[in-house]
Amino acid sequence: MSSTSRKVAVIGGGVAGLMAAVTAAHEGASVSLFEKMPKVGLKMGITGKGRCNLTNSAPIMDFIAKTPGNGRFLYSAYEKFNNEDLLSLFHSWGLATKVERGGRVFPKSDDAQEVRHLFMKLLHQEKVDLHLEEPVRHILQKEGKVTGLSTDKGTYEADAVILTTGGASYPRTGSTGDGYAMAREIGHKVTAIRPALIPLVCSEAWPKELQGISLKNVTFSVDGGGRRKAEEFGEMLFTHFGVSGPIVLSLSDKVSLWISQGHDVKGAIDMKPALSLEVLDKRLLRDFEKYHLKQMASALVDLMPHRMIDVVLRLSGIPRDLPVSDLKKGDRLKLAGILKHLPLTITGTRPLSEAIVTAGGVSVKEINPSTMESKICKHVYMAGEVLDIHAFTGGYNLQAAFSTGHLAALSAVKELS
Ligand SMILES: Cc1cc2nc3c(=O)[nH]c(=O)nc-3n(C[C@H](O)[C@H](O)[C@H](O)COP(=O)(O)OP(=O)(O)OC[C@H]3O[C@@H](n4cnc5c(N)ncnc54)[C@H](O)[C@@H]3O)c2cc1C
Repeated sequence: MSSTSRKVAVIGGGVAGLMAAVTAAHEGASVSLFEKMPKVGLKMGITGKGRCNLTNSAPIMDFIAKTPGNGRFLYSAYEKFNNEDLLSLFHSWGLATKVERGGRVFPKSDDAQEVRHLFMKLLHQEKVDLHLEEPVRHILQKEGKVTGLSTDKGTYEADAVILTTGGASYPRTGSTGDGYAMAREIGHKVTAIRPALIPLVCSEAWPKELQGISLKNVTFSVDGGGRRKAEEFGEMLFTHFGVSGPIVLSLSDKVSLWISQGHDVKGAIDMKPALSLEVLDKRLLRDFEKYHLKQMASALVDLMPHRMIDVVLRLSGIPRDLPVSDLKKGDRLKLAGILKHLPLTITGTRPLSEAIVTAGGVSVKEINPSTMESKICKHVYMAGEVLDIHAFTGGYNLQAAFSTGHLAALSAVKELS
């Protein structure tokens, strides 16, 4: 087969699809990219709060560890195209990058649109035939081998099809879960989808009072009963519906799973994880000595954000206007207990549409990890979040989409040549 006769069709112009289209075209294939939205890379454009956390500088083993959703499936993709390969490629394309706290890599410009525009330029440069606002409806196959795809405008023949329609979160960016139906139609199993990296909703009213307050160096723990326990140390914040922030998002995958399994989940904040209960009590005694002429509401200012004091006193059953000198030992110990274990009842997660990533998707058991090819339909490849893979924040999801997109494209072209 001559290089020009290799027709590769990519479904979805997001992170994985853009990488797949540019790579396959660069390798000599004749590439068509179908995108349902009027623009490509809409989700890419809002990643990292508009700054695009492209990847992480951590060793690849950390990437696997930070990918609770089938991280080990990604070994081969990372062996073939890892974070260093990705950055070398970006640098060769003229994108300057920088590394920040926690190894997070961003474009030097702090502008996700720069990455989007780069891919748009590359699509043009590599002569990718771009079909905007043309959602793909079906992957076409005959006797277990792909023949092309169909849209509302017609049928397109292809020697290989790469499915990169993303997950089902942030649907306004185009990722509405279409790929799951297309994959099912050609015989693939799709595992149950649910939100991951998602804020948590609590039944208590007080988080709303504290909306906007962020806590640093705290431990947030979740308990779904039995052995379903987990905790994270770091930063979190209160919202009008409950809690959010980095450590809450990290735990949300487990919470979302437990809730989907019907378990009740309790949460707790340890506001002073570095201090044991005894040491914290001594600290309280010192503070109360310092503020012995004040009322309780003015005696906790060194311990927590001002707006939290009333809530903590209320939960401890201590009147805010109680003179410090009148506080009983029992109440002081109760206060210390609340500071070590501020309880929350988690009733759910925010909806899937608000999740940073979708957990679940096309079962990776039916995808060859060395090529990204479907084990069910020959010359169909899949990459990115449409697969049952999801990782924590830190650039790990984008790297997974770039690496699997790159591998799918190389495999498709190699297989056809
Ligand atoms: C707010 C937010 C911030 C994030 N920040 C980061 C970050 O900084 N770092 C990080 O690593 N990860 C981040 N993520 C996660 C990351 O963006 C995704 O994991 C990644 O975009 C997945 O890439 P993908 O190509 O699989 O899917 P997407 O990028 O979602 O692309 C899928 C594409 O397919 C198109 N499509 C869907 N159906 C069809 C169809 N039927 N026909 C044609 N086209 C179709 C869609 O329109 C879309 O363009 C963030 C996510 C969100 C929501």
